[in-house]
Amino acid sequence: MNKNSNNSNNNYINQITETKCSEHEKEFEYLCFTCNSILCSKCFFNHYKSNKDHDVESIDEIKKNLNNLSNNDYSYLNNSNHNYKTDNYIQNRINYIWTSIKRLSYQYTSLGDKVTEISNHFEKLHQFLIVEEHRLKKPISIDQDTVKEDLDKQLNELKSIINIINFNNNNINKKEVELDDDNQVKSIVEDTTDLYSISTINS
Ligand SMILES: [Zn+2]
Ligand SMILES: [Zn+2]
Repeated sequence: MNKNSNNSNNNYINQITETKCSEHEKEFEYLCFTCNSILCSKCFFNHYKSNKDHDVESIDEIKKNLNNLSNNDYSYLNNSNHNYKTDNYIQNRINYIWTSIKRLSYQYTSLGDKVTEISNHFEKLHQFLIVEEHRLKKPISIDQDTVKEDLDKQLNELKSIINIINFNNNNINKKEVELDDDNQVKSIVEDTTDLYSISTINS
């Protein structure tokens, strides 16, 4: 809360529970709106030495102004075009803060609207890109399926031919083995047809 690091006073307005300054044992007499602190006469003297430009007001004066304020009509706060001029610090601050809150909440809303607008724009772009991606891919996928079908047919045919060759070779070997009077018959030519797949052909 304390915006001024030079100020060693720890009596902040929003934390105050006593009416006396614990450091100087004196009644509080002033408020500093700049560093949000409450000051006794000794605090006030020390504070003034290092913070001559701060907005300090006496508590008596503030009480008087608050009493005036509570007797006033608050309806002017709802009128954004009010030209309420006063010397009263608190009333001036209320006017300023109220105008500022309206301006900031308007800014906040319009920034939110911009974010939503950008989100909507990109949402449309995303949808368009998804549709476009699908549109471009679809005929290619169909072509790819057709090619795959042809490829499988050809591979199967090749496998069949190789199997026939192997079968034939095995039979020849078998006959040779029988001619050698060997009881152990084994396949000499291995089945290699599993090697014919798209991945092994392309690698
Ligand atoms: Zn101050
Ligand atoms: Zn003090």
